[in-house]
Amino acid sequence: MKTAIYPGSFDPVTLGHVDIIERSAKIFDKVIVGVLRNSAKSPLFSEEERVNMLKYVTRDIPNVEVLSFDGLLVDFARLNGANVIIRGLRAVTDFEYELQLAQMNRVIAPELDTLFLTTNLKYAYLSSSMAKEVAMYGGDISAFLDPEIAKKVRDKFRGKILGYQGER
Ligand code: ADP
Repeated sequence: MKTAIYPGSFDPVTLGHVDIIERSAKIFDKVIVGVLRNSAKSPLFSEEERVNMLKYVTRDIPNVEVLSFDGLLVDFARLNGANVIIRGLRAVTDFEYELQLAQMNRVIAPELDTLFLTTNLKYAYLSSSMAKEVAMYGGDISAFLDPEIAKKVRDKFRGKILGYQGER
């Protein structure tokens, strides 16, 4: 059985991520989406929220499982019997970092390979942080996120603004 891991922060999951997950699920017997628990990026959504959002958007893909992890990606992959790491590439700006990461993982876990899927051109510009930035200023994020996820992002920012005002 060929199992792949698709790791990331997914803060929140975008339509670009969903596209990569759908395509990976056609290539592999099983795809484990690995949500990085303690992202250095101080996430907007908690680990549980990010996992639940991913479970929601992948509910119709039977060979996808969503788990969270901490520590080394290669340990998480080994623990789950995965032999391939999937990463998405949007533009050359992703390339240098991704190449370095893949090479480092290859040195510490030679049995694991990294497979890059190029973005669907529709989502080449899209990142979680861009979607959050647009939402923060009240812009329309419906082209970036599943409608339910977009609602959660809007609610989160609304809550933050109310919370802030409440503290004053
Ligand atoms: P990380 O913090 O690990 O970069 P992200 O959640 O930002 O986590 O991204 C996870 C993976 O998905 C990365 O490989 C990233 O390049 C890829 N990715 C992000 N956005 C897109 C997109 N719009 N199209 C294709 N791949 C994407």
